Amino acid sequence: MNSFKIAVLAGDGIGPEVMVEAVKVLRQAGRKFDFSLELTEAPVGWAGFDAAGKALPDATLDLCRKSDAILFGSVGLPDRDPTVPKEQRPERAALLRIRKEFGLYANLRPVKLPKALAHACPLAADRQGDGIDILVLRELTGGIYFGQPKKTEDLGGGNQRATDTLVYTTGEIERIAHVGFKAARLRRKKLTSIDKANVLENGILWREVVTRVGREYPDVALEHMFVDNGAMQLMLRPTQFDVLLCENMFGDILSDEAAALAGSLGMLPSASLGATRQEKTFGFYEPAGGSAPDIAGKNIANPIAQILSTALMLRYSFGLQAAADGIEKAVSKAIEAGCRTGDIYNPRETGARKMGTREMGDAIVAAL
Ligand code: NAD
Repeated sequence: MNSFKIAVLAGDGIGPEVMVEAVKVLRQAGRKFDFSLELTEAPVGWAGFDAAGKALPDATLDLCRKSDAILFGSVGLPDRDPTVPKEQRPERAALLRIRKEFGLYANLRPVKLPKALAHACPLAADRQGDGIDILVLRELTGGIYFGQPKKTEDLGGGNQRATDTLVYTTGEIERIAHVGFKAARLRRKKLTSIDKANVLENGILWREVVTRVGREYPDVALEHMFVDNGAMQLMLRPTQFDVLLCENMFGDILSDEAAALAGSLGMLPSASLGATRQEKTFGFYEPAGGSAPDIAGKNIANPIAQILSTALMLRYSFGLQAAADGIEKAVSKAIEAGCRTGDIYNPRETGARKMGTREMGDAIVAAL
């Protein structure tokens, strides 16, 4: 029986309540698919401040280092922000720190709109086909957000010049391209690589390297698309996409555009992957949304994003494909049966039942 060590960091706001449901589903998956989990909880975010005086307590970081993956809720409480300097706030001191510490270079954001939730999508039904199912893969540690020089100069006379540098190496592009092709193999075997090769040197290199890496994956259909056209195609015909491979900034923008198609942040999981050692890929798994303090503690948050992030963990860190599929199918089954938290509930929908966070978790466990 496989055994995995997971650091469970629920964090702030709705984090703890959606995490309880995710852990419930994960344990049920372990029983059904015969793997065992060593889950250890630790505080992070403002909960970290309350427990140990900082957003990422040393003991929490230590636990992460000893784990195979991190299952993360969310951090941040805007009301408490003024109480500490910017660099000590959870978003920087915990999230960015973890990204850096574990070299998380690949961000995966699956966007899935089941047919039963067609009403939650801003696109007309005829643009949704049989349901939208896209994986946006974003390079997370390179490109214009980190390139040097990065500065603002004073040119005199009230004139300033700001410089950001877009830079990628062959190695960085190869690394993320392999993640993309491997992910496509687990899905519908199509990869659309996004670039701006008509204007940017970086775009030309990106296209060359992705094409070369693609020759190692002859079973995956590769196409290239300029980012401006990609942004438009996401709205016009999102069903044409399987995996969308993007550099950092293009991925930042297109992943949010794609996310809007799913109707609610509460439905969207995400994974950030680091290095692979002995067949295990270290990963950080969290919902795409934040701590939602406006709805925290009321048993109304949608736990599906957190639950689906456990499926990503089983698939991408532990290679437990059947168990990951099982959790995703259980979520679909609950949705098809009419289970709805407030964010995805439409009173005009026949057969839909509005329910709380706990009840949605129970329904998914039962479906599993
Ligand atoms: P948010 O994602 O927390 O909330 C935006 C809106 O979406 C809110 O109306 C919220 O109620 C709703 N929402 C989010 N998740 C939901 C769910 N599971 N079910 C139902 N509705 C849901 O974004 P925000 O309000 O801009 O940020 C709140 C705090 O979260 C801030 O401190 C911010 O910095 C932090 N944040 C953290 C992360 C993270 O931990 N990765 C990500 C984004 C924001």
